[in-house]
Amino acid sequence: MKFKDYKYERINIETVVEFLDKQISKLKSDLPYEEEFAIIRVFQNEMKRIETLYNIAGVRYTLNVNDEFYKQEREFFDLNIPKILQKEQEFGILLLNSKYKNKHIKYFGKQLFDLIEIGIKTFDPCIMEDLQKENLLTTEYVNIISNAAIEFDGKTLNLSELNKYSHDANREVRKAASDAAALFFHDNDEKVGQIYDELVKLRDLIAKKLGYENFIELGYLRMKRIGYTKFDVENYRADVLKYLTPLASKLTKEKSDRFGFDVKNYDANIDFKNGNPSLLGDEEYLVNQALTMYKDMSKETGEFFEYMIENGLLELTARKGKSGGGYCTYFADYNSPFIFSNFNGTSADVDVLTHEAGHAFQVYACEYKDLSSSYAFPTSDACEIHSMSMEYFGYPYMDKFFTDANKYKHSHLLSNITFVPYGVLVDHFQHEVYKNPSINYEERKRLWRKLEKEYMPFKVYDNEYYNEGLYWYRQAHIFEAPFYYIDYVLATNCAWQFLILNEENHNKAWESYLKICKIGGKLSFLDIVKQAKLKSPFIKGNLKTIIEKVEKIFRSIKINDN
Ligand code: ZN
Repeated sequence: MKFKDYKYERINIETVVEFLDKQISKLKSDLPYEEEFAIIRVFQNEMKRIETLYNIAGVRYTLNVNDEFYKQEREFFDLNIPKILQKEQEFGILLLNSKYKNKHIKYFGKQLFDLIEIGIKTFDPCIMEDLQKENLLTTEYVNIISNAAIEFDGKTLNLSELNKYSHDANREVRKAASDAAALFFHDNDEKVGQIYDELVKLRDLIAKKLGYENFIELGYLRMKRIGYTKFDVENYRADVLKYLTPLASKLTKEKSDRFGFDVKNYDANIDFKNGNPSLLGDEEYLVNQALTMYKDMSKETGEFFEYMIENGLLELTARKGKSGGGYCTYFADYNSPFIFSNFNGTSADVDVLTHEAGHAFQVYACEYKDLSSSYAFPTSDACEIHSMSMEYFGYPYMDKFFTDANKYKHSHLLSNITFVPYGVLVDHFQHEVYKNPSINYEERKRLWRKLEKEYMPFKVYDNEYYNEGLYWYRQAHIFEAPFYYIDYVLATNCAWQFLILNEENHNKAWESYLKICKIGGKLSFLDIVKQAKLKSPFIKGNLKTIIEKVEKIFRSIKINDN
């Protein structure tokens, strides 16, 4: 069935809660194993149905944020999801205390029970109203960002459309576009700054109500971090500062030398004096090339991409009213992944066809979705491994997309290298913010700028607003998904290990990659890393060794820039 034909109908929240309550009370009575098992299945199926409808409404809302119907449906879920979460938690507590727990673990896997346990630590009925408020505040932020209407180049553009100009060959145009975006954030400074201020204070309050010192510990639990702590992450940030910031600075300096001027923030997407590589065709062409690539890559990836095309599961065109960015989600009842993006005619379009498709392929390939829909994707620390690694597995095919594949690879790897310091900056910033929730929004901007200079001395602005420290207003994760960002950093480490292994032994690398796609979310991040025979990012000295090899690979990509 095609995505456009998926049926959406609002759930009746009273009926749903009543139904879930009924399963809960059944579970409380002393039942034989088979009956208890059957109730778990019934409960899971109802949750799957709700999750599917939630995702359909969410996707259709992001396809057009001005669509009143789905806007209301989204608000309906914002208000009512916490009630369902409460039932899920009550059910989870009973499972944890079930006399058949060991038997259940044997059947469903330990990870499911770890996730239930972690979920319980993040919720209590006393925070219900706060969660509703938190959802509404993040929606308010999304509305401001996605309704951006910026006058530029004789057109009215949203931020994704404006971003296209950061790839313009003309430096004046790039600077003007960067300034236009900065002005938009400056114009919304107080509004966005206050929304975040409310979010931080609210999250701090929620954490305290649940008995935590501040939001940091709760944030880690919400992100379902299993097997490592904020101290491991802190050490990793220190490693990045020690090994990656200098490399990123060195490579930026080399670029400046090649260009003959000091590169600024708006030069980030231009890496060659004689021009970036161009795309060889439009959206339809690129999707066709991607199909050829995936068919050649493996039988599994070929079938997967064909399925995505046939079922209308790729929504790639940029349109006014469409929410920004790109994502991959999954409709459990249809067993279908879905990719959302805003193609803008730049190399980022190809990144979507590898990155988001990497997520989608992983969920498509996962063999344990039936055990629990929480196994469709791994926790987000692990799930970015699949997407980022797919970008590297796509390297040998880049001549299908670009006039000059080596130039693309050079830019791609360079941007990954400079990304990691940014990633830890976003992470460090949030640790400071939630540790000191009472600082005001002006102080937060100064804090950002201070950390930005530390981790990214190679990023230079000549715009007063960015120099005041509001670049992060565009970083939706900071608002919507606190502490998410380090996941990209940890995954980059693992993806680099795949890049290195793929150069040494392609078959071994692919076999290992496919294996963890099939595992999906049945294991934790560190266990998935182990299954892939990768080294944990937290092992001392790991990053240093990887970086040396990545720099070597980077330098082996020959480019012509005369
Ligand atoms: Zn991703």
